[in-house]
Amino acid sequence: MSSVTLFDALLDILERRRRDNPYIELSPENQTFLTQAALHASSAPTPATPTPAALPPTAPADDDRTPKPAPQPPGREPPAAEAPNTAAQPTAEPIDLGNTDLVELETMVSACTRCELCKERNRTAFADGSADADLMFIGEGPGADEDREGIPFVGAAGQLLTKIIGAMKIRREDVYIANIVKCRPPRNRNPEPDEAAACLPYLERQIELVAPKVIITLGAVPLRFLLDQKGIRRQRGNWLDYKGIPVMPTFHPSYLLRVPDAKRDVWNDMQQIMVRLGIQK
Ligand code: SF4
Repeated sequence: MSSVTLFDALLDILERRRRDNPYIELSPENQTFLTQAALHASSAPTPATPTPAALPPTAPADDDRTPKPAPQPPGREPPAAEAPNTAAQPTAEPIDLGNTDLVELETMVSACTRCELCKERNRTAFADGSADADLMFIGEGPGADEDREGIPFVGAAGQLLTKIIGAMKIRREDVYIANIVKCRPPRNRNPEPDEAAACLPYLERQIELVAPKVIITLGAVPLRFLLDQKGIRRQRGNWLDYKGIPVMPTFHPSYLLRVPDAKRDVWNDMQQIMVRLGIQK
């Protein structure tokens, strides 16, 4: 019980006793105590009524791949407007990939030491699928399975991605799948900006060579490093642009494994793409 509530209760008792006996004798110590308590009660701040702004946030961080606590109820998209991604991205050593084809590019990547991620990789995961694809998926980076097999999206998240592609009435071998970084970040952490900047020229050349009709970015990392945008929950489902190619940001399959309800959002995004590609009217 707070001192204010205790004081109110004491006054109530005294008031009831006063009705029986209007003369209540108080010792000097109790008079001092009541005087100080009264002063404290009059100056104590009134407990604030909770407002939506003061309630704990329901929106987790802007990262849909890194393991995080269980999701909160609907409203995961941050209600407040997110600041534009104005942080300067680091620049990497220039690299001339102007005349490379995909085979040469993959060979270069397999021997690449442009960033620290080369130190702990077992294999680079360059790409999977068709160089003639109309549809290109871009994820973040290899996980443990991809690092072992040297192919993007072959673990549990990759199997879910394969199911999504199948639900779109497309074969996985007919799309092109790549990542922002080609080497596994330790403990599946997100790529650091300098790592992404070092690896991005390879991805840019891949996009140039494949020339897809539509790009799907999976999760917050490609949204940030390829498109210089933040807020996957705000951006998903809305068409963006990469050098004239329409881009649909959506959630990463790893996120769907943790939050199955988000599959509905992803499927809505995929339907937009199917319409765009003429697979569905
Ligand atoms: S992540 Fe990319 S830039 Fe870094 S070492 Fe691997 S291939 Fe090279």
